[in-house]
Amino acid sequence: MLTKGHILYLLGDVLGIDCNTVSIEITEDEKIIVDFGNFIYQEPIFDFESPTLLDEDFEILDTIFFEITKNKKNDSILKNLYKNISTTNIPFLKLCHYFVNEHYLGKPNKIDEHKRVISESVYRDVIKYLSYPMVDILIDTFHYHYLHEEKQNGTVYFTSDFDYINLWKYLGIFKTLWRFFKHIIFYRRQILIEEFWSYLLSKKYLRRNFMLNNAMFLFQDKIGETLHIKNIAFLLVHKSHKKFDFENDFSILPFKEYLFTNINQVSFGLHPSYNTRYNPETLNEQIETFEQAVMERPRFSRFHYLNCSFPDDLLPLEERRIKQDFSFYFCDKLLFRGAITRPFKQWSYSANRIVNVEIFPLSIMDVTLSKTLEMKYDEALTTAKEKVRLSLLLGRNCVLLWHNNEMYEPLYKKNYHRKLLTALRNYLDELESIR
Ligand SMILES: [Zn+2]
Repeated sequence: MLTKGHILYLLGDVLGIDCNTVSIEITEDEKIIVDFGNFIYQEPIFDFESPTLLDEDFEILDTIFFEITKNKKNDSILKNLYKNISTTNIPFLKLCHYFVNEHYLGKPNKIDEHKRVISESVYRDVIKYLSYPMVDILIDTFHYHYLHEEKQNGTVYFTSDFDYINLWKYLGIFKTLWRFFKHIIFYRRQILIEEFWSYLLSKKYLRRNFMLNNAMFLFQDKIGETLHIKNIAFLLVHKSHKKFDFENDFSILPFKEYLFTNINQVSFGLHPSYNTRYNPETLNEQIETFEQAVMERPRFSRFHYLNCSFPDDLLPLEERRIKQDFSFYFCDKLLFRGAITRPFKQWSYSANRIVNVEIFPLSIMDVTLSKTLEMKYDEALTTAKEKVRLSLLLGRNCVLLWHNNEMYEPLYKKNYHRKLLTALRNYLDELESIR
């Protein structure tokens, strides 16, 4: 049953409204009435446990969807779309709730080989709305028309998962020798020399360690006048799976040097190991190791392989005061999971309360483009640009994930990720001019 607590949660932790002075009433004739002091907002009550979309809800979503597709090329119309949406009969609370708590997922969920929910789980008549950050548009519309607030400036998060920090230890002696042998066969003299020195000295000197690079970040506070920048490196500090985790040694000198050179511009977060979702008690050990490496408690998290189930796998993070998570994403497609780009909180039905960890939806992971969707460079660039553009024009934030190993170009054949990220950074500068 819908309670005042549910409404308060949606207003505060999803719509981002300061609820100190609002009063809420659920009336006998099945209306939600929110008194903001200077105006009253109303919408029909809905089923909080399993809300469904009615025909009139689809109509509202279709109207917004149509406005976006019609003006898809026009940056300034998209940017101001929320100002031109009529609020008449939009059940803001229900629609936001439906999307951010993922009531669009069919039961049982379809999962991949890592037991992660895949986009095929999304109801067929709803999935098209996840092409855009519909919830951001709804929230901005609400703030603009009812609270007379303009859209806030967004942030671009440059994030990286450091799955391993020593390439040669990761490859092992046989793969390393094989690699050097191929360099000789194909006359890659320069790379051979560089890698040979790296092999000998990567544990001693930062510049010889290709994995501890910072090419995936952007070292400035802002782009133009409006876009904020934040850099986060997530560190895997624990081995829980033979194949999918790697045991890193953060006591090596190059890591300390890396930490001190970057600490003013890069934040460090925990990258909980592959099996953490099944053994959350290992988080204690992981946090301890993280503290030894970084000299502070982890405040951010992103699950390795994004291997977690929302929202309940966030509860162990909450318990350990990790307040922000960056794992929310569909690994198989570039959709807007939850139809949202701004941070929000989910409701745990098993715990019957808010999960007090802010979810920062991931916008693009590098390997989704190259490996999962098997895109060539040009297609990857066009697709990534469009996702960035829609995130910032229609939504609020954009969270990019480029792995540290992908930034070392010679590691894989036809690895375009460093080039792609450079192109995206230039694009952000361009995009700024129209914001
Ligand atoms: Zn990882």
